[in-house]
Amino acid sequence: MKFVRYGEPGAERPGLIDPAGAMRSLEGHVPDIDAGLVGDSQTLARLAALDPASLPLVPASTRLGCPLAGIGKIVGVGLNYHDHARECGAAIPSEPILFLKATTSLCGPNDDIRLPEGAEKTDWEVELGVVIGRTARAVSREDALSYVFGYCVAHDVSERAHQLERGGQWTKGKSHDTFCPVGPWLVSAEDLADPQDLPMWCDVAGVRRQSSSTADMIFSVADVVSYISHFMTLMPGDLIITGTPAGVGLGQKPPFYLKRGDTVRLGIAELGEQQQTVA
Ligand code: ZN
Repeated sequence: MKFVRYGEPGAERPGLIDPAGAMRSLEGHVPDIDAGLVGDSQTLARLAALDPASLPLVPASTRLGCPLAGIGKIVGVGLNYHDHARECGAAIPSEPILFLKATTSLCGPNDDIRLPEGAEKTDWEVELGVVIGRTARAVSREDALSYVFGYCVAHDVSERAHQLERGGQWTKGKSHDTFCPVGPWLVSAEDLADPQDLPMWCDVAGVRRQSSSTADMIFSVADVVSYISHFMTLMPGDLIITGTPAGVGLGQKPPFYLKRGDTVRLGIAELGEQQQTVA
């Protein structure tokens, strides 16, 4: 299923995208698309049995929120694409690089990105987001994908000056409000053929800057879910953002960054597209 949350910020309602691509309301069927739901197989089975055509249509122009409420933590993976590690002049990591990103950075897929006070080097990063569906503690690589509920597009907006020039850790540059647009949809894992074979892209001010595939990941989704679970318990509704490919502002020659008024469009095949304006 493709889940959405629609409506005004802080008052989003649950919905889904039907097979024809129309948005439908799930109000009255579930209170929200949240961490409780993604861990509740009975309710998910009940929703899957609904006839989408029987659900009320929601106008396509309705604002989308982050498609999952109650995200407990966001775990980022750094330098996880071969081509991005090369453009950063970094060695291929021997183990996944992890950072935490504040949940207050979450916003809807098409909300404005607000440059923080003193921003100098705010950068774009299209990423595959992975939502956990079952409590995962020290799980094996072989079992790891069975703990994944689904996938989404995540934009890991990053202020490089705060990330790299203000002392450890990366968290400083990753956590500003509006620095984590998620969506448009949360797609359940069974509806995705192969999370390691998804074209992904990012256009800034109408120019394609990132164009790659999740096939270029250094550590696969199974690798990172297993790896992270050996350092912290992953809970239903936790979000892992799995790294970005080459073509970020930091990797341009010379580097350049987002400025007020820029439009950023980014997407991943089967998971939809986001568009933000820099404010
Ligand atoms: Zn990132």
